[in-house]
Amino acid sequence: MAVTVVESTHVTYEFNPSMTPIAEVEPGSLVEFHTADALGGQIRSEADTLDGLDFSQVNPATGPVAIAGAKPGDALKVEILEIRTASHGVVMAVPGLGLLGDLVKVPQTKIVPIGEEYVDFGSGLVLPKRPMIGVIGVATAQESVPCGTPGDHGGNMDTTDICAGSTLLLPVFQPGAMLAMGDVHALMGDGEICGTGVECPARVLVRVNLLKAAGLARPMVYTKAEVQAIASARTVSEASALAVKDMVAYLQRETDLDFNESYMFLSLSGQMRISQLVDPLLTVRMAVSKDVLSCLQHAAK
Ligand code: CA
Ligand code: CA
Repeated sequence: MAVTVVESTHVTYEFNPSMTPIAEVEPGSLVEFHTADALGGQIRSEADTLDGLDFSQVNPATGPVAIAGAKPGDALKVEILEIRTASHGVVMAVPGLGLLGDLVKVPQTKIVPIGEEYVDFGSGLVLPKRPMIGVIGVATAQESVPCGTPGDHGGNMDTTDICAGSTLLLPVFQPGAMLAMGDVHALMGDGEICGTGVECPARVLVRVNLLKAAGLARPMVYTKAEVQAIASARTVSEASALAVKDMVAYLQRETDLDFNESYMFLSLSGQMRISQLVDPLLTVRMAVSKDVLSCLQHAAK
C-alpha cells in the first residue's frame, strides 16, 4: 500500500479548531510523519543550552493530516506501526525545568548516541531504547492549545505507552480530525521528571482509521497488554479523576458492570500511572489488563 509521507517542513505549533491540512488521506491509509525534535533541532552540541534558544521554534508537530470523512463525535484510530529515530538525541538539565529545576545550578546538555536497540547515556551506561511519541493530537473543540500543552485533544501527553505496537484513539472535534505529531523520545521514564526524554528527530509510520460515533471524551491507548484511559489536568488528582471516569465509562460500555461495580473493580484491578509531571497540565493514565478485561467479558456471557 502506498504511504503518504509528511515532511518535517510542514509543522504546526498549536492545535486549534481551524487547522488547515497539508494532505488528506482515506481511512485505512498508511502515513509516515517525519518529525523534528522538540527543540526544533536547535541544540546541536553539548555547548548549546536553552540560553539563546528561539522558543517560537520549540515543540513543532508535523502535520496536520486530514482523514476523509472524520466528523465530530468519531474517534480517530492511530495504529503506531514503527518509530525510527535519528542517530543522536538530546537530554538536558535546565535551571527551573522539571521537578528539581530549582536545584539545577548549571545547565547541562548531553548529546546521546542512539543505536538500533540502545541509547548510550555515557559513563559506560547503555540503556534499552523504547521510542515513544511525546506530542500527538487533533484539532481542538474550541481553544488554541500550544503543542507543549496536553488536553482532551491529545497534544503533549508524553506517555511512554504511545509507542510502536500501540493503538491510540483520539476524539474527533473537527471535520477531518487533523492529525499532527512530534516530540519523539528514544527513551523516557514515566514522569519525564527533568523535563526531557532523549529528544530526537524521527520517522513515525502509522495507519489511520475512524471509529464512527465513538463518543470518546479523551484519548485512550491500547497497548499489547492493556487498555488505558489518558487524561490531563492542572493537578494529578484532577487528571486521575478524569482518567478513572473515562475507564468507568469504558467498562460500562464494554462489560455488564454498572457504575459502582466498575468503580470498585478499578480500585482492585486498575493501575493508576503517571505519564508526565512537567508540562503546563499534568498527564496520567488508568490502565486495565486486557486479560482481566477478557475474563470480565467472558463472565458476562
Ligand atoms: Ca513533551
Ligand atoms: Ca520532549
